[in-house]
Amino acid sequence: LLTVRGLRKAFGRHEVLKSIDMDVRRGEVVTLIGPSGSGKTTVLRCLNGLEVPDGGIVEFANDLTVDFSLPVPKKQLSSMRDRSAMVFQHYNLFPHKTALENVIEGPVQVQKRPKAEAIEEARELLARVGLADKEGSYPFELSGGQQQRVGIVRALALRPQLLLFDEPTSALDPELVGDVLTVIKELADEGWTMVVVTHELAFAREVADEVIFMADGVVVERGHPDTVLRDPREERTRQFVDRLL
Ligand code: ATP
Repeated sequence: LLTVRGLRKAFGRHEVLKSIDMDVRRGEVVTLIGPSGSGKTTVLRCLNGLEVPDGGIVEFANDLTVDFSLPVPKKQLSSMRDRSAMVFQHYNLFPHKTALENVIEGPVQVQKRPKAEAIEEARELLARVGLADKEGSYPFELSGGQQQRVGIVRALALRPQLLLFDEPTSALDPELVGDVLTVIKELADEGWTMVVVTHELAFAREVADEVIFMADGVVVERGHPDTVLRDPREERTRQFVDRLL
């Protein structure tokens, strides 16, 4: 579904991504792990078009190839943006909109889908994550775990090909983490394709098809979770996982 080659991004003189390669097949879950500042979030933001890479190629499903070493036409960039939807660490819900309004905003305002249809679908999705009775609640009336489930539903409502999760549980109180991880696991079981930045190594071991360990803007090691998380080849990976496990 997704092929990334030589992805580069610098902020000023700071090269945050040095040349990232990545392959995500349809239905696969890829997790990105690594120390703070290694560039994991920036990878997701580049895939989602929230940042424009300085170089590299992003290819979706054989029908969209964006080469960032050349000037990228606006249309290509927006077509790339439409492929994925992001779930943020701090939920990023509109504070003055209800749960339901947050979910239908993208489908109605951006995708111009009929409002009645968007509402119906939003209600079904909210019910699926256990929030049927919260559609009229504002973010401040919801727990962090509930807000994040709204964040996930908002991403699903865009019907993307690819879901991007940026440390979706790291802002949550420990007792709320499980509910959100369960929802993400269910989506993986349903066949959603996703890239998940996470510090939850137990989750990565259980759900991921591939784990990518990044440090200082490069991929240090990648592979099956049993290898990367239990018996890594690289010393740097070992030090990182030993500290977290
Ligand atoms: P964390 O686990 O802390 O979220 P990360 O691996 O996701 O870390 P990134 O958020 O991708 O890392 O950040 C990588 C580096 O890029 C950091 O040093 C950060 O300060 C820098 N950076 C990220 N976004 C910007 C920006 N918009 N402007 C300048 N520097 C940035």
